[in-house]
Amino acid sequence: MPGPTECAPYQELKNLLREAATLGSVGALVSWDQETYMPSAAGAHRSEQAALLSGLVHERKTSPRVGDLLAECESEPALRESEGAAANIREMRRDYDRAVRVPTELVSELARVGSLAQDVWKEARGKSDFAMFAPWLDRVMGLTRRKAEFLMATMPPGAELYDALLDEYEPGMTAAQIQATFTPLKVQLSGLVQAVAGSGHTVDVSVTKVQVPAARQHQLGTLVLGAMGFDLRAGRLDTTAHPFCSGIAPGDTRLTTRYTERGGFLEPLYGTMHEGGHGLYEQNLPKGDEFGLPSSEAVSLGIHESQSRMWENFVGRSRAFWQWALPKAKELFSPALDTCTLDQIHTAANQVSPSYIRVEADEATYNLHIMMRFELERAMIAGNLATGDLPGHWNDRFKQSFGLEVPDARRGCLQDVHWSFGLIGYFPTYTLGNLYAAQMWEKINADLPGLDDQMSRGDFSGLRSWLVENVHRHGRRYRAADLCRRITGRSLESGPLVRHLQGKVKATYGV
Ligand code: ZN
Repeated sequence: MPGPTECAPYQELKNLLREAATLGSVGALVSWDQETYMPSAAGAHRSEQAALLSGLVHERKTSPRVGDLLAECESEPALRESEGAAANIREMRRDYDRAVRVPTELVSELARVGSLAQDVWKEARGKSDFAMFAPWLDRVMGLTRRKAEFLMATMPPGAELYDALLDEYEPGMTAAQIQATFTPLKVQLSGLVQAVAGSGHTVDVSVTKVQVPAARQHQLGTLVLGAMGFDLRAGRLDTTAHPFCSGIAPGDTRLTTRYTERGGFLEPLYGTMHEGGHGLYEQNLPKGDEFGLPSSEAVSLGIHESQSRMWENFVGRSRAFWQWALPKAKELFSPALDTCTLDQIHTAANQVSPSYIRVEADEATYNLHIMMRFELERAMIAGNLATGDLPGHWNDRFKQSFGLEVPDARRGCLQDVHWSFGLIGYFPTYTLGNLYAAQMWEKINADLPGLDDQMSRGDFSGLRSWLVENVHRHGRRYRAADLCRRITGRSLESGPLVRHLQGKVKATYGV
């Protein structure tokens, strides 16, 4: 007897979405190439290729035929009773309703202005000249606000404009929920940072400055990725200016990292492990026959980020990890690390030190950077903060949170690319990722009592299987909040991350 998903409308819908996803994967490949090997003179034509492809994908996803088939599937009782199909239909409806609300002209205009604004931002950041970027920020914010206004039709009553943007990256989450989670976290983290500053204890970070040739670093990165279980026959590791992971297509997950020979090997290694965590998630999503369906996609950016942060911070900065990895690094980097001890590298990897730049921040202060951006972008979208007043507000808040005077806009409000092309509602997903990771990590350690022992031998198979079983294989079957409750038995909360960071600070600084 044929199963419910073999009915004609579901099959046709599946084929249409697979086609759209296949087109999308060509776009992803083109964009990966742009970030890695494309000659710079190809830039102008590449933006035409990218715009054409994204237009075609948008057209296919919003075609009236998709809408008709979706309605047919929704009225098919057998599909509603199949849990997998019902979840796919629920998520397809969400995607379709959001996509058709935003006029194609606005999508194109945002892409066009965003691309120009990004170029201006690069130059303005180089010159540390906010006034140069201000009119462009204003235009991008205006267009983004218009997009949010269109999307409000898909939002529940009481939603604010910001929620409609956030919903793109973290479906179901609201600004008010984020604020309620961030507020107590901010108090705890500020307390930690003050305690570290007052401890009078300084950490020996000389090992972080040890210079190692890029080729050797690449060998270590590849070795660690292999141990994590990242399948290099179904992926690659290349270098870029801004590391990322792209789950391009079934059997093709691309990671990038950045080696800084003078800046030491730890940051690049953590970059590789971070992207490797994203990559493992992409490789273990059920992409074969289901490619193009929501069941082959990640839950949300927050859950995606929980996977990368877990490998980078919870695994990569642990003593158990270094028990295994230090001898490997010593061998590959010989004689650079000959005198380095386990204590030295473990302590250096866990230093806490307030700094201006988010992407260089330590694990504890990182979240303070995010909270500030969340509050400022929420105010800008609500119309409570004029874009021209951004630097002043930024600098005041930075002083409050970090105790540091911002010396220039380059190290202040011009440091991130996100706002230049309208990525609003994206920043909080970084801290959500840390929170989800910490909450899962407590459960993982309860479920896998021998985990530290396994990690100290370079055996990450137990952890990887746990992640596949509990997170990866479900695709978008559960929303982030449901997945969190399903895994940990509790709603998202800040306690686990605070306990994790307090433990680290105690071990490193004795406070
Ligand atoms: Zn990430």
